[in-house]
Amino acid sequence: MNKTSCAFVIFIMFSLLLVAGNRQFDKDTVKTGGGDLVITFLGHGTLMFDFNKAVIYVDPFSRVADFSALPPADLILITHHHGDHLDLAAIKPIRQEKTVIIGTQKCVQQVEGCIVMNNGDAKTAAGFKIEAVPAYNILHKRESGEPFHVKGEGNGYIITFGDKRVYVAGDAENIPEMKELKNIAAAFLPMNLPYTMTPEMTAEAAKAFRPGILYPYHYTDTDTKRLVELLKNEKDIDVRIRSLYPAAPE
Ligand code: ZN
Ligand code: ZN
Repeated sequence: MNKTSCAFVIFIMFSLLLVAGNRQFDKDTVKTGGGDLVITFLGHGTLMFDFNKAVIYVDPFSRVADFSALPPADLILITHHHGDHLDLAAIKPIRQEKTVIIGTQKCVQQVEGCIVMNNGDAKTAAGFKIEAVPAYNILHKRESGEPFHVKGEGNGYIITFGDKRVYVAGDAENIPEMKELKNIAAAFLPMNLPYTMTPEMTAEAAKAFRPGILYPYHYTDTDTKRLVELLKNEKDIDVRIRSLYPAAPE
C-alpha cells in the first residue's frame, strides 16, 4: 500500500469511529514538581496536555477527534500551516474568549488573533513558558527539490510544566538545533515518512539530546519497534510507544 492510500485508509478508520463519538484515547502521565502532566494522544500529530486544570492542545486536527466533545483550550500551539496541523474546524469548538493561540507567520494568515512566535522566541502564555525552536527538513524533499518543511517556517515548542521541559518537535528532521537541546524531560519526535524522520534519524537525535522520555509521535505506519530496538542500550532514555491510531476494525 502506498503512503497516500495508507493515509486514506487511516482517515477512513478515524472517520468511522467518530460517527459513534470519540474513541478511547491512549494517555500517559508524567510527574513534575508542580503536579502531574496528563498527556492524551488524540491521533496523528495531535496532542492534549492537562496540567493543573489548564488544557493545552498541539496541532488540533478534526480528522482524529470530535473536538466539540473535548475540553475547551487554554492554549493552542500550532507548529506549522500544513492542513493536518492547522485546521480551523478543530480549533473552532475548543477556542474560547480566553484561549491563547500561538503559531507561525504563515498560521496567522489563517487564524485570527494568532500570536506569532518565530524560531528562537520565548514567551509566557496562559501561565506556561513556551519556547519556539526550529523544525525543518534537510534530507527529505519534494520532487521540486524544496524541503517538505522549509527552515524558518515551522516551529517545534518546548513547554515548561512545573520543573519539567517538554519538547514537541512538530514536523522536523534530526536537525543540528534539535541535537543541541538540553534538559528535556520528555520529547515527542515525528516519524511520518517521507515528511519527517526515519526510526534511525529519530534514534540519532535522541542519542544526542537524551530526553528522559521519548515518545515517537505522528508516525502513521512507520515501525515504532525499530526505534525501540535502536535505543535498547540507552538505559537513560525511556522510549514509550503510545497509540495515535485506532486499532483496525475486526
Ligand atoms: Zn507538515
Ligand atoms: Zn505533519
